[in-house]
Amino acid sequence: MKEIEIQALKNEHPLLNNLISLQEVFWVNPNIEQFQTAIKKSPLTQEDVKDAEVRLQRFAPYIKKAFPETEKSDGIIESPLVKIPSMKKSLERTYDQQIFGELLLKCDSHLPISGSIKARGGIYEVLKTAESLALQHGMLTIDEDYSILHSDKFRHFFSQFSIAVGSTGNLGLSIGIISAQLGFKVTVHMSADAKQWKKDLLRSKQVEVIEYEADYSKAVEEGRLQAANNQTCHFIDDENSHDLFLGYAVAASRLSKQLEALQVKVDQEHPLFVYLPCGVGGGPGGVAFGLKLMFQDNVHCFFAEPTHSPCMLLGLMTGLHDQISVQDVGIDNITAADGLAVGRASGFVGKTIEPFLSGNYTVSDEQLYLLLKELLDTENIFLEPSALAGMIGPVKLCNENTDYILKHNLTEKMQNATHIIWGTGGSMVPKEEMELYIQTGSTLASRN
Ligand SMILES: *Cc1c(COP(=O)(O)O)cnc(C)c1O
Repeated sequence: MKEIEIQALKNEHPLLNNLISLQEVFWVNPNIEQFQTAIKKSPLTQEDVKDAEVRLQRFAPYIKKAFPETEKSDGIIESPLVKIPSMKKSLERTYDQQIFGELLLKCDSHLPISGSIKARGGIYEVLKTAESLALQHGMLTIDEDYSILHSDKFRHFFSQFSIAVGSTGNLGLSIGIISAQLGFKVTVHMSADAKQWKKDLLRSKQVEVIEYEADYSKAVEEGRLQAANNQTCHFIDDENSHDLFLGYAVAASRLSKQLEALQVKVDQEHPLFVYLPCGVGGGPGGVAFGLKLMFQDNVHCFFAEPTHSPCMLLGLMTGLHDQISVQDVGIDNITAADGLAVGRASGFVGKTIEPFLSGNYTVSDEQLYLLLKELLDTENIFLEPSALAGMIGPVKLCNENTDYILKHNLTEKMQNATHIIWGTGGSMVPKEEMELYIQTGSTLASRN
């Protein structure tokens, strides 16, 4: 991008200066619309989400058999929703900022099979692909018990087909594990940010892992090119896939039941705020879309990104979506939050979610490590750095400098508010890696 173009963008959006100088920013989306208006323009609908939900139900007997850890939940891949009152107190003390309402953590870190939010969308798209192939070839009808897929007959059938994906790590992990279990040949194109243990784990499951020295966008591009030359290969396109998005969106109806079980109300007098770590956008976008369908104007969704990788915020703020990358404006896309190390956001997600989204903010790597340590100390829950990006959201929102609450007439309702931090990953991180993260958090904390 030319210097003169960047200057013009800065003039139009002064916050861009703060973004470029890597300061933490909080951006309120001026293009949010009432739910009823926004949904009319949406390329995806409630029916699409319902279809995904019913498909996952059809696969539950298979999942239960193939992944015994899902026995308790009858083959439904879901995570706990827990209250974190000690963390709330600690945040209030650390940041000298009252948080109005209750704080909950959605533990997608503890989703079965792959221990991150990618166990929603990633697994869903592979299952959908398997179902289409089996239906097309007369191997299966939709009324059958899908546990028959857990057999040599089906593994042999699926071995004629392949699945490919580009990833910073966790998407590759989810897709590699489920594809290999079904019997597909599977190739994961990993960006330079991907952790060694994720590559090792996949290789141990006979997944082909191709490594790149470049970032996520390059790994996706290469994967897409290689898959295009192969008729029997399905490429899971993290930048454009509607199926991934819908797989994530199913989270909302499940969450709604969990909120009821905890006797948490969401209505006009009881606003719900949700904070979602954002990489390319599919995970947080899909979840936020599902939540808006469920709770409409009573839910307020915010995306959180590292200060070094604010691709979605950049795309939304400038209106350029996927036509601009963080590197275009001189930001390096180098962050400890490997799951969020994306320089160019999904244009599909940005445009789809824009009228529904309340805002975005950025958080420094240092902050992520401190929050990681603080959550462990107060609630004994371990998350990976990426998954902590949501945690600072309520502090930033409740800060009087943020005019969102005023603008939406929420001041009076804030004592009835619920804040959900979406904890997007962490339970599969090996012990030694975990110790390093905690050590970094401790060192930073002792300096403050
Ligand atoms: C992938 C990922 C995200 C963000 O999902 P996107 O679809 O890339 O936006 C957040 N947290 C973790 C831990 C992830 O792995």
